[in-house]
Amino acid sequence: MGFFSRKSLLLLSLAAALGGTAACTDDNGNPVLFSVEDDIALGEQAAAEADSTYRAQGKLLERSAPANRRTYELLDGVVNKVLNSGELQHRNDFVWDVKIIKDDAVQNAFATPGGHIYVFSGLVKFLENESQLAGVLGHEITHADRRHTTRQLQQQYGISALLGLLVGDDPNQLVQIAAGLGQLKFGREYEQEADEYSVIYLNKTTYACDGAAGFFIKSEAQGQSATPEFLSTHPNPGSRIEAIQAKATQLNCQSRSVSNAAFDELKRII
Ligand SMILES: [Zn+2]
Repeated sequence: MGFFSRKSLLLLSLAAALGGTAACTDDNGNPVLFSVEDDIALGEQAAAEADSTYRAQGKLLERSAPANRRTYELLDGVVNKVLNSGELQHRNDFVWDVKIIKDDAVQNAFATPGGHIYVFSGLVKFLENESQLAGVLGHEITHADRRHTTRQLQQQYGISALLGLLVGDDPNQLVQIAAGLGQLKFGREYEQEADEYSVIYLNKTTYACDGAAGFFIKSEAQGQSATPEFLSTHPNPGSRIEAIQAKATQLNCQSRSVSNAAFDELKRII
């Protein structure tokens, strides 16, 4: 599709969205001005930018490198169980590409629109078992699948900036947006939903479905000495642990034990 037709289409869909029909709100009544296709396009650009930034720093573990083959085999084993839970809205629309950034000092993960997920090696090493990793991944997958990231970017940067980015008008804006993804602060509502869906996804796997609580439990136990990045964008650990465990109790899926052989190997080799 040519440049102008793409732009005209976007402006048309924007005009339609601003018309305020019922089709332009999500389940929670929040407006979604971007189509699923726009999420995919925006995510591709943001991921390409994030890739080149971390690649330039020598931190991106490349999927194509033979040395990383086993690492991704182990990671994908966990990711695919969550993706195939049957609970995602966009399982077959989004790319669901998960990459590791090698930085043991950073305990963080983030998602672009359209299902590109980035996990820092420091987060994997901080976690204690495979259910916890699945839980954190489930949380990030929710941000992409339920389109939290798109709506948050829309709110933070404005529609026109994102539209300009989609048609390639403003490369500097793209750099800024991609660089800010790891620090993007979601509202309380989206965080609660991401925690809740993490439990819902894991309920349909063999994992202990309150795995996402593990990160917050360990962070709380470490007290003031630990201020991991994930915690700065995910505040109120105490109430989140309670909410995650309450949902897990409701679904009766919290006390399962799975083998950690793959997880332990992953921790060892990244
Ligand atoms: Zn989150």
